[in-house]
Amino acid sequence: MTAARPPRLRFAPSPTGALHIGGARTALYNWLAARHDGGELVLRIEDTDRERSTEENWEQIVDALEWLELDWDEGPVSQFGRAERHRRALARLLESGAAYRDAATAKDVEAWKAERGAGAGYRGTPSDEPGAAVRLRVPDAGETVVEDLIHGPVAFPNASYDDFVIARGDGTVLYNFAVAVDDAEMGITEVVRGDDHLSNTPKQLLVLAALGHEAPRYAHLPLLHGPDGKKLSKRHGAASVQELREAGYLPAAVRNYLALLGWGTDDDTTLMPTAELVRRFRVDDVGKAAAIFDEKKLRWLNGRYMRELPLEDYVAAVARHLGREPDERLREACAIAQEKAQTLDEVWPLIRFLFEPPVDDPKSWQKVMRPGVEEPLAAAREALGDVEPFAPEPIEAALAPVLERFELKPGRLYQPIRVAITGSSVSPGIFESLAALGRADSLARIDEALVRLRSAKLDE
Ligand code: GLU
Repeated sequence: MTAARPPRLRFAPSPTGALHIGGARTALYNWLAARHDGGELVLRIEDTDRERSTEENWEQIVDALEWLELDWDEGPVSQFGRAERHRRALARLLESGAAYRDAATAKDVEAWKAERGAGAGYRGTPSDEPGAAVRLRVPDAGETVVEDLIHGPVAFPNASYDDFVIARGDGTVLYNFAVAVDDAEMGITEVVRGDDHLSNTPKQLLVLAALGHEAPRYAHLPLLHGPDGKKLSKRHGAASVQELREAGYLPAAVRNYLALLGWGTDDDTTLMPTAELVRRFRVDDVGKAAAIFDEKKLRWLNGRYMRELPLEDYVAAVARHLGREPDERLREACAIAQEKAQTLDEVWPLIRFLFEPPVDDPKSWQKVMRPGVEEPLAAAREALGDVEPFAPEPIEAALAPVLERFELKPGRLYQPIRVAITGSSVSPGIFESLAALGRADSLARIDEALVRLRSAKLDE
């Protein structure tokens, strides 16, 4: 960017719901654009829809941004709290004649209700009925052109706008007016937001022009779709940042994945740490096509981040996710699970056997504990009784002769041991698992499995 002054951006969510994945990407792009150029980011909460805005949603959005580790330089600013400024701007337009009082029709009311569909708009005030209104004078001819950084110039003929309503008779302004005034008065230089706001932009530009403000630069981000090409929704998996967090994704991986949805490389599974994203990100390089959010790819990328975390950080993240103490036991468990888990959620099933008696997975048992496993398992148990020290390498060495004696492929011996000590056919490496569990528990669990195998045989 060649702007002389550092850019000032804003993220402007409406607190009418949780922060969705599309909103999180918008926040991230604003943050990256601000950080790339040593600019500033303002968090403006568009809480003018008094019926649907809640404090709980406000907090959830702030929490979600904090979890994503996206910081801001000013705010959170309440848009509703700026009502007095909106009124003053309106008064200026009335004074200059750029706006005038008129009767509002039922059609006007429909139009201002539709503005709420954009995510905000004063709602539920007593004046939500046809009555008096304030209209902006719109030139009859010519066009209003949005010079969009992503879409290029998009022209809207002025003839398609009547003098539209910017405020109700009681002075409460409408959504597009509030946004334009705020962007101007907050010194916003770039507006980066979802595609669904492109059609609002000409109205905002007309308001800005009437107020004599310079317009910011606009970038409208293509929507996110699911892998089936449909608009992203809950049926594609996690839909909100909160859900991503609960599912055990790491914020750094989420930033990486979301950043590449529509920007950067053709391959949205590329590993790009945040510092590199900040260095390279330019909003002008965002593509025009809808991007696909595919949770499978995020999961894969998350697994890469999980494997590359220093053990201390890994243990801390797992402990936080599980609500456990990051003690020595957990550290040992994490050390053997780190290679295997793609999300924090996947860690516990892999390490639970180190904290609790094995939970039997009937399918694993059925598949693995087949006729003929009893003898080699008993032999393995004997061999393990003598291993000194009870550590991965000596354990491997002690089991090798058992494989040879029974002429078994490794899996044929290791899987029954695994099912015996963990209850499942999926676990961290078998030698590491045995060593972490310790000799006494390992032998006791194998003995128990042998008893079950023998009684099953008697039942036949
Ligand atoms: N509050 C709007 C929304 O949540 C965003 C408005 C804007 O960025 O201009 O969709």
